[in-house]
Amino acid sequence: MKWGLPWWRSRPPKPTGELKVYVLDVGPIEGDSILIVSPTGKSVLIDAGDAGKGKVVLDALKRYKVERLDYFIATHPHPDHIGAADEVMNGIKVGAVIDNGVDLSTPAPETPANKKGKGSKAAPPPPKKKVKTATTFFDEYAAALKQSGAQYEKAQPGKNYDLGGGAILTVLAPSEPFFNKDQMKAGGNDTNANSIVLRLDYGEFTMLFMGDAETQTEQRLLGKKDVDLNAKVIKVAHHGSKYATSEEFVKRVHPEAAIISDGAWNRYGHPAQAVLDRLKGANVKLWRTDLQGEITITTKGKGDANGAHIYEIKAAKETKDDVGMGREAQKDDSSRSGFIAYGDFGPPPKPKTEKPKKK
Ligand SMILES: [Zn+2]
Repeated sequence: MKWGLPWWRSRPPKPTGELKVYVLDVGPIEGDSILIVSPTGKSVLIDAGDAGKGKVVLDALKRYKVERLDYFIATHPHPDHIGAADEVMNGIKVGAVIDNGVDLSTPAPETPANKKGKGSKAAPPPPKKKVKTATTFFDEYAAALKQSGAQYEKAQPGKNYDLGGGAILTVLAPSEPFFNKDQMKAGGNDTNANSIVLRLDYGEFTMLFMGDAETQTEQRLLGKKDVDLNAKVIKVAHHGSKYATSEEFVKRVHPEAAIISDGAWNRYGHPAQAVLDRLKGANVKLWRTDLQGEITITTKGKGDANGAHIYEIKAAKETKDDVGMGREAQKDDSSRSGFIAYGDFGPPPKPKTEKPKKK
């Protein structure tokens, strides 16, 4: 039985109109934010970009006439994915929030009551100023979620969401047991490896959303023979990191087009040349938010009279740069090397050619 879609292959629902996927441009810092609008107007936001990008996301929602988000899906708790989730949840009504269940909330501060026995001669400390920590972004996300009144769900692999008009979104990962640091010794990051991975089906159109999945995530998916991974379009894992999008995975997915959501200011060498080469080698057409801005995929779920043109992809801007040219890494994007994913973004160093050389 195909996961979540037992009836799908035998009795696919007829597509009823246009479905749109907008891979938003939340650069030049790095991040992901992807909006799906179904043929019946149901909407899903996958991630919200880093802190400060709420306006970009909310503007896009306005532009595409989304007045209420049916689902907000937080693929994994890293700031480049949920940093602006609070800004979005404060700005628009959200029906349900789905995440992978990993809780990074800062524990409640010690009070005299729970501090008992730890030496009580000191006077109660003055109320602490809020200090930003490496996980403050999660506290802000959790607080906004609570305040929003949205329903909360932990992602369950195999569960699918009916988006209306024949469009179905299925959760493929993470599955238990979650990856831990020890399993990331070959490279990669456990938080990323436990990303929510999704599959969108609409008629003959299929798209995979990989979050920041790592090779280990792909291996686990490849091992599940009942999971259909074949897709026309893939939102490439982890901004094109060299620790994902393995050759084996590309072969199994067999995509026609790959969308890379990455920021020009990232220091991890996203997208990696090796990944771009693998995709190019498999004849996959490349699209990149850092060079082409927002990428829009439109599909009616079926082709024209000849069965061609099942979907169309358009970029907000043209680029003269080569989308097949990777970026050079200044840092390794793996927890092995102390990768923490926080605040490692900034404008690139000024080109050395700016000052005329003395001779
Ligand atoms: Zn990321």
